[in-house]
Amino acid sequence: MRVLHDLEGLSPSDLPAPYLSVIVPIYNEEDNLPPLHRDILTTIEKLTCSYEIIYVDDGSTDGGLDRIKSLAANDKATAIIQLRRNFGQTAAISAGIDHSRGQVVVCLDADLQNDPADIPRLLAKLEEGYDLVSGWRVNRQDHWLWRKSVSSIANWIISRITDLKLHDYGCTLKAYRRDLLNHIRLYGQMHRFIPALASMVGAKVAEIPVNHRPRIHGKSKYGLGRTFSVVLDLLTVKFLASLSSNPIKIFGGSGLVLIGLSFISGLAMVLQKWLQGISLIQTPLLLLSALLFILGFHAILLGLTTELMIRTYYESQGKSTYVIRQVFKPGNDQRPNSQ
Ligand code: UDP
Ligand code: MG
Repeated sequence: MRVLHDLEGLSPSDLPAPYLSVIVPIYNEEDNLPPLHRDILTTIEKLTCSYEIIYVDDGSTDGGLDRIKSLAANDKATAIIQLRRNFGQTAAISAGIDHSRGQVVVCLDADLQNDPADIPRLLAKLEEGYDLVSGWRVNRQDHWLWRKSVSSIANWIISRITDLKLHDYGCTLKAYRRDLLNHIRLYGQMHRFIPALASMVGAKVAEIPVNHRPRIHGKSKYGLGRTFSVVLDLLTVKFLASLSSNPIKIFGGSGLVLIGLSFISGLAMVLQKWLQGISLIQTPLLLLSALLFILGFHAILLGLTTELMIRTYYESQGKSTYVIRQVFKPGNDQRPNSQ
């Protein structure tokens, strides 16, 4: 077992990089951990590939950390990352991804609702040529009817807005290719949007039905409040999707429309004066024209400012505005490992 403390001062492991990294975010799941570790091992030991398991303890306040340490005590392929406090599931998954080394990354929940036995099917689908395979909890086992209905509405909205049709964005059980994850940073509740972010960089995404079981130990960490954060994150994803490379088009476009409307309203005002003798101060059109013009002008300024920010974003990080899938050279067909 490797214990990676606090994400600071980590030295790269001397073990060779494995094919598969299994990442599990944990927050107060003490009683789920023994069966979970057993189930994961049972499944992946049967695979012929090399693997590592990374548990990310997201500031648990129960005895979970000690539990998982003793479970993995003699296991070189298991690493435990302890975060300093509870940062949330997305941050925990990010920490796991950043410190994993596998060519393929599989994430799953620690509460035994996802079934590790599904991992081989995810990997097989990935091998068919996909970059990301997402689980679809066909028989979702959550107690509350409203949770399932809110979630199906959310999935429908996300699919419409992101242009990637999935039945189940919220399922943590997913498999990713490493070179894809190098292009994605996760914030807020965004782990659920990885497929959408991935398809923005040209990833081939598939969805397969997976098992889902009722939670036996511990409680769900989320309530209705999560829906709001998911909606706000969705706005960010949409913003990134449609604006990130050319914001002036959207802001500038709406700015020009607003200025056009302001001229139309100004013209209507002048015509009213000429034809009907209505004084300019008797009609709200003067105010409307001024308002539309100011709004339009500011939208264009906002577009220009955002263009500047986007350029800073790309150039400060040495990011390119394109993503390479593969480079073909004689005798060297390779997927890119970074950038
Ligand atoms: N989790 C986490 N940090 C948090 C909340 C949850 O690491 O702040 C983990 C939790 O331990 C579980 C997974 O994220 O492994 C999913 O959480 P939960 O089962 O509560 O979500 P639900 O299945 O109800 O959507
Ligand atoms: Mg759960």
